[in-house]
Amino acid sequence: MGAVNLVLFGAPGVGKGTLAEMIKSEYGVPHISTGDMFRELVKEGTEVGRMLSKYMNEGKLVPDDIVIGVLRDNMKDDEKGFILDGFPRTRKQAEALQTILDGKRISLDAAINFEAPVEVLTERLSGRRQCRGCRAIYHIKNMPPKEPGICDICGGALYQRDDDRRDVVMVRLKVYEEETAELIDYYRRKDLLKSVDASNDPETTFKEVKEVINSQRNAQ
Ligand code: ADP
Repeated sequence: MGAVNLVLFGAPGVGKGTLAEMIKSEYGVPHISTGDMFRELVKEGTEVGRMLSKYMNEGKLVPDDIVIGVLRDNMKDDEKGFILDGFPRTRKQAEALQTILDGKRISLDAAINFEAPVEVLTERLSGRRQCRGCRAIYHIKNMPPKEPGICDICGGALYQRDDDRRDVVMVRLKVYEEETAELIDYYRRKDLLKSVDASNDPETTFKEVKEVINSQRNAQ
């Protein structure tokens, strides 16, 4: 079986991270999340980390040049492919990705656009909890851990991200509309856009995602 090369995008709270983990376990493809990478850098407490946390805690995008640099460092030549989650988020990032991939003679299989109504997004973000250790994602109502506050997988502590506070969520949703939504058109023009309804539970969404991946693979 060949590699799977995917871009996942969609508004904050749509479930990209959860779905990326499901795709990773089914197809054995590395999950590359710029948000997770930045949170790791923030944890290290370096100057770069402090600068990143300022943008993130306000719900704003990290400047393109920084994001593109970090991404380039982390995109290893992996013959199994990649699942990009949270990148690209602007047209400039999409163009930079295209240049990186052209340089490696790799092409994208699909850009999956997850869609859900705004009430679903805000409800998901306010109940989201993440493991400090392995970064697994839970929801206090929809996907609770077996023991409250403790990760089922690694026993790590679960926490609420600073940017999942209501006021910051509103900014993130607005930034998505203003800066990222135009990628729908960008990938449609390249004939790579696949829209998936993400308003139901993760298993239902995953079924649709598998159909997209498998049909792309059969077409190759
Ligand atoms: P979500 O998609 O739920 O907003 P992420 O974990 O993907 O969460 O991103 C968290 C924050 O990290 C963003 O609000 C932004 O500040 C920063 N970030 C992540 N990826 C990018 C990117 N590609 N470009 C700019 N900023 C980014």
